[in-house]
Amino acid sequence: MARVLVVGAGIVGLATADRLSQDGHDVTVIEKEPGVARHQTGRNSGVIHSGIYYKPGSMKAEMAKAGAKSMAQFAQENGVSYEITGKLIIATEDSQRVQLAAINSRAAENGVPSEILTPEQAREHEPYVSCVEAVHVKTTGIINYTGVCEALARRITDRGGEIAYNESVVSAQNSGTNLSVETSSRTREVDFLINCAGLQSDLVAKACGVEPEVRIVPFRGEYFELTEPREYLVKGLIYPVPDPRFPFLGVHLTKMISGGVHAGPNAVFAFAREGYKFWDISVKDSLKAAAWPGLWALGAKHIPAASKEVVRSFSRTLFAKDVAKLVPGITAKDLVPSAAGVRAQAINRKGGLVDDFFLQHAPRQIHVLNAPSPAATAALEIGAKIASEVQSQLT
Ligand SMILES: Cc1cc2nc3c(=O)[nH]c(=O)nc-3n(C[C@H](O)[C@H](O)[C@H](O)COP(=O)(O)OP(=O)(O)OC[C@H]3O[C@@H](n4cnc5c(N)ncnc54)[C@H](O)[C@@H]3O)c2cc1C
Repeated sequence: MARVLVVGAGIVGLATADRLSQDGHDVTVIEKEPGVARHQTGRNSGVIHSGIYYKPGSMKAEMAKAGAKSMAQFAQENGVSYEITGKLIIATEDSQRVQLAAINSRAAENGVPSEILTPEQAREHEPYVSCVEAVHVKTTGIINYTGVCEALARRITDRGGEIAYNESVVSAQNSGTNLSVETSSRTREVDFLINCAGLQSDLVAKACGVEPEVRIVPFRGEYFELTEPREYLVKGLIYPVPDPRFPFLGVHLTKMISGGVHAGPNAVFAFAREGYKFWDISVKDSLKAAAWPGLWALGAKHIPAASKEVVRSFSRTLFAKDVAKLVPGITAKDLVPSAAGVRAQAINRKGGLVDDFFLQHAPRQIHVLNAPSPAATAALEIGAKIASEVQSQLT
C-alpha cells in the first residue's frame, strides 16, 4: 500500500482521501487553513445537482447523476443534514422556451427524470413564481457540504489517516522512487501526490514541477439572503434558464439546509483567488492571470456580459430586479448581503472556459485542475476515479 499525500481539505480532496484510505493506503491530507471547507466547498449554494445541464457522456453529466444518489446516501449514513426538494427552472419570456425544451431533452439524454410544466403546474410547487413555462426536476436537493467534509475527515482519521491543518504544500521533487514534498513546516516523503487545491490548483501543480495545461480564473459569486418575513416566497429551488455561453447557472433562489433562502450567485471576475470582497485585490494573482494569453481572449469575448455583472455587483436594486423576474414582488429591501464564494474555473490557452472536470497526470502525481460546480455533488465519484487511477499507476 502506498503513502499518498492529498493537497486540500475541500470536498474533492477529502472524498479522494476517504476513498484512498478505504482502499488501505496510508493517507495524509495537507490543508493550509485551520479547518475543512474554508474556500469553495464551504461557500457554495449547498445544492445536490441532478446532472441535467451537462453534455451527455461528460464526466460532469455522469458523475453529477451518480453523485446526486451517492451524496444523499452518504449524508443519510453519516448524519449530515440534507433534503431532496426538487427544483424548478423557469422560462420568464417566450424567447426562453426553446432553450428550456433543450434542457428538458438533455435531462432525458442524461437519464435524469424531468417534466415540462405549465405556469399553473409550476405554481403547485412554487406558488409565487411567474413564468411562461417551467421544467421540474425531482432529484435535486440541498445539503450541508461542510458537514459532509467533517464526516469525511472523521472517517479518514478513524482509519489512521492524518489531516494536517495550517500547513501548506510548497513544492515536490520526484526522485524516481518517491516524492519529496516540502511543506510550510517540514519535508514529507510519499509515493504519490494528489493536488485538490481548488483555486490554487494550477499554482500547486507548477510548484510540484508540472506545467499546467490550463489556468484557474477566479469568479466571485455574491449572495443575498431573503429577509425572514419574505422567506415564505420560496419553498425549494428556483432557477432561471441559464445563458448557454457561460458555465454558470444564473442568479437563483435556494432554500438553505440550515434555514433561510439565498439569492445568487452572480459571477464577477475576482482580482484575488481568495478575494471574497470586490476590493480584495492581489497584485500577484492579477499579474499571473494576465500572463496567460487565454485570459485576454476570454476578456475580449465577454466584455459586455462581464460589465453587466460588475454593475449589478454594486447595485442591490439591479440584483433584486433580476431576482424579481423569478418571483415578482421581491425588492432591494427584501435582500440582505450574505457571504460570497469564489469559483475556480479553468481556462485554456485560447481563452476557452474548460467545460468538463479536468485531471492532469504526471509520474506519481494527479492534479485536479478543473472541479467547478457540480463537483461538490460529484465529489465521491471524483474521489473514486482518482483512487482507481492511483491504483493503476501503482500496479
Ligand atoms: C459560489 C459557488 C456556488 C457553488 N454552488 C455549488 C452547488 O450548489 N453544488 C455543487 O455541487 N457545487 C457548487 N459549487 C462548486 C463546488 O463548491 C466546488 O466544485 C467544490 O467545492 C470544489 O471543491 P475542492 O475541494 O476542489 O475545492 P475547495 O473547496 O476550494 O478546496 C481546496 C482546498 O485546498 C486548500 N489549499 C489550496 N492551496 C493549498 C496548499 N498549497 N497547501 C495546502 N492546502 C491548500 C484550500 O485552502 C482549500 O481548503 C459552487 C461553487 C461556488 C464558489
